[in-house]
Amino acid sequence: MNERDTEQVARMFTEGGYTLTTDESVADAILVNTCSVRDQAEQKAIGKMRNMGTHRRTKPHVVYGFMGCMAQSRGAELFASIPHLDLVVGTQKYHKVFDYVDGILKQRMERRMDDPSLAMYGENVCDVEEEAGSQNTIRDHLTKEKQVSAFVSIMQGCNMRCSFCIVPDTRGRERSRPIPHIVEEVKRLADKGVREVNLLGQIVNLYGRTEFPHVNGKSPFVQLLEAVHQVDGIERIRFISPHPIGYRDDLVAAFAELPKLCSHIHFPMQSGSDRILKLMRRPYKHEKFMEICRKMKASRPDLAITTDIIVGFPTETEEDFQASIDTVKEVEFSNAFVFRYSKRRNTPAAEMEGQLDESVKEERNQRLLAVVNEIAIAQNQSCVGTVQKILCEGYSRYNEARLSGRTSQNRIVVFEGDLAKYGGRLMEVKIDSQSGFTLYGEPGVIIS
Ligand code: SF4
Repeated sequence: MNERDTEQVARMFTEGGYTLTTDESVADAILVNTCSVRDQAEQKAIGKMRNMGTHRRTKPHVVYGFMGCMAQSRGAELFASIPHLDLVVGTQKYHKVFDYVDGILKQRMERRMDDPSLAMYGENVCDVEEEAGSQNTIRDHLTKEKQVSAFVSIMQGCNMRCSFCIVPDTRGRERSRPIPHIVEEVKRLADKGVREVNLLGQIVNLYGRTEFPHVNGKSPFVQLLEAVHQVDGIERIRFISPHPIGYRDDLVAAFAELPKLCSHIHFPMQSGSDRILKLMRRPYKHEKFMEICRKMKASRPDLAITTDIIVGFPTETEEDFQASIDTVKEVEFSNAFVFRYSKRRNTPAAEMEGQLDESVKEERNQRLLAVVNEIAIAQNQSCVGTVQKILCEGYSRYNEARLSGRTSQNRIVVFEGDLAKYGGRLMEVKIDSQSGFTLYGEPGVIIS
């Protein structure tokens, strides 16, 4: 989601005549889009911003800004700890970042021309207010040449109150974009050659639940999937992340009826223990989660399910932890992001009794990862010798001499071939080996 928001801001700067650079030493404005999910991410962003202050010595006009979740949650207090910071812009104000930066830069340049000795620093700008309709402003893209896949933000915010999570404070309440707006965006992407869209929301399956009606027993999210499915040129549809709440049979049935929906869901479980789920304020039980997984696998037999799991939540016993391990084995997740519980300020879990030692969290983290990896490797091994249908996305991230793509199940496949021939194509690859989470093979028939 942050990546998508960053793209929107970057697009506004290119439209405004600026050039993007990842080299901070030549930049006139340095913006950091921040994440608050873990404390570590916040500390890293603050440390990075502090270090980058040195560029002021050679370029006094340079503008420094924080955007996103940490900007939203910490607001103006960030100015006190980082004296060179000019701008703090929250999650509902991305569309204003360009005007703020451009305004400050112009002001500084004008002052410099009048008298170079003048102090270059004006008022700090902090804008973290809520803004009605801000979800509709994340809609433009900076598509690269031969871009195959794109993220599409369909909603913002979350109405849940998981006891460990800071997101409802940083992203606000659920707000969804109208279906026609999203479909228009997807059509524009398809016109530029994009063949796969990944629909984004904190809880995508709750898309539009307070704004748009059910039609013929179908939720607004399933209606959206059907509308996107009709866009010519789009071959694959993914979404991230659904929640067990509101995951109803119409969405299960969509996987049987809409072939462009990929055979993969990332379905956060968080814990296999009902006691811990209750403390987490996750409003479902383990059995409900399992029932949805079973229905989904029945609806789409080749479905891969990945998940998020927190280990070491306050008071988690060995028995609770074992319930998470047992669920991983039972569902046979294709992969799992395992997080050691970390306190987030102003969340109920941070104040709970029974906080666990880091050593216990780390040990459980390693034990669970070992189980996750064993299952993932076995699943990848079972792909060796098969022919997989992939969408070729371009050069391999780690080896530009090779190409890479993904299977419908979101498995990465690397192979040798010509980008001009295979880039952006749905094609077959004969898998001949695997290493951990990557499959390797020989290119085969181009399907489309
Ligand atoms: S569902 Fe829970 S974990 Fe997910 S964003 Fe909302 S509050 Fe956070």
